[in-house]
Amino acid sequence: VLLKHYITGFPKESDMEVVTGTITLNAPEGSKAVAVKNLYLSCDPYIRNRMTKHDEPSYVPYFIPGEVLSLLNSSFFTLFTSSLGTLTGFAVSKVVDSDHPDFKVGDFVWGMTGWEEYSIITSPETLIKIKYTDVPLSYYTGLLGMPGLTAYVGFYEISKPKKGEHVFISAASGAVGQLVGQFAKLTGCYLVGCAGSDDKVKLLKDKFGFDDAFNYKKCDDLDAAFKRCFPNGIDIYFENVRGAMLDAVLLNMRVHGRIAVCGMISQYNLEKPEGVHNLMFMIMKRLIMEGFMIFDHYHLYPQFVESIMPHIKDGTINYVEDVVEGLENAPKALIGLFTGRNVGKQVVVISRG
Ligand code: NDP
Repeated sequence: VLLKHYITGFPKESDMEVVTGTITLNAPEGSKAVAVKNLYLSCDPYIRNRMTKHDEPSYVPYFIPGEVLSLLNSSFFTLFTSSLGTLTGFAVSKVVDSDHPDFKVGDFVWGMTGWEEYSIITSPETLIKIKYTDVPLSYYTGLLGMPGLTAYVGFYEISKPKKGEHVFISAASGAVGQLVGQFAKLTGCYLVGCAGSDDKVKLLKDKFGFDDAFNYKKCDDLDAAFKRCFPNGIDIYFENVRGAMLDAVLLNMRVHGRIAVCGMISQYNLEKPEGVHNLMFMIMKRLIMEGFMIFDHYHLYPQFVESIMPHIKDGTINYVEDVVEGLENAPKALIGLFTGRNVGKQVVVISRG
């Protein structure tokens, strides 16, 4: 899947192109590279940020439309060279050839690879070998992959929750939000989320155990919705969207509340980000607002997996994926993140084995 050109505004399927080509699967001699067959692709909102080139450097390299991709040095994303200039992103893959002592043919891994059927990974140290294969491998694009770790770090490390605290999550039914919510319930918090459809709201309450939830697209007075759900205010806001939601939350935070700034999806397709109007309440309410990048926290991955695995196996953590079949459908799946088409973690199946 190639990006045809840099884009402005909402991404369209026609901004991407699915082409057929050939790559040599043998890892270059002495390179310590591995060749992988890509199985499950992860559609993630940050991919949109790589499709528009700004003057400022980004935390993640921009895609190079239609050209052979050579990624910047000294970055987490210096992971591999794609033969076709494909889009890149997180995926679950199977090693099919290896010159690296830590990886053997048949290993399952997750990490950064190409939006293509096969890839050569020239820096395989960045791949994570999958230890538990007795759960669906697609889980390593979400629950057990980057979004799962994001939920874990953003909630436990950044939000620092305490039992009984009142938590609000935006984009709550998505890959990150559904897990943050369940971590909040495991901690003994009162939990409210918002999502963009009545079906998603039902999912929040029935499947993920939210105490309350609302459809923000049908809500013409967010402040009133918060006053109804949180008559005594919000202790922790897990921010995924920004915009009007953040402004209304700021009015309803409790004194000494915390805001974990995970994402701002309502802004990713705007040429100029919107202003935030109620920042004065940061002072009046003595709030802490902390952004985080998951790439700084990868050392916590083993601890995260060991802690969540029993909950997956005994069913105390639920998980919903939105599975799309076929690499050719990946562009449509990706752009659906920005209209809320996905219900749960958006995964694209390239191959099941
Ligand atoms: P999701 O699975 O939640 O998919 C995105 C969802 O965002 C959509 O389904 C939609 O749900 C909602 N959405 C889309 N556009 C808007 C809008 N304009 N206003 C409000 N909601 C919107 O994605 P993830 O769980 O993977 O990501 C959630 C957030 O976390 C994103 O902002 C992402 O960038 C961020 N993130 C940050 C990381 C970090 O390191 N800081 C790492 C990973 C993710 P709905 O139908 O409810 O509107």
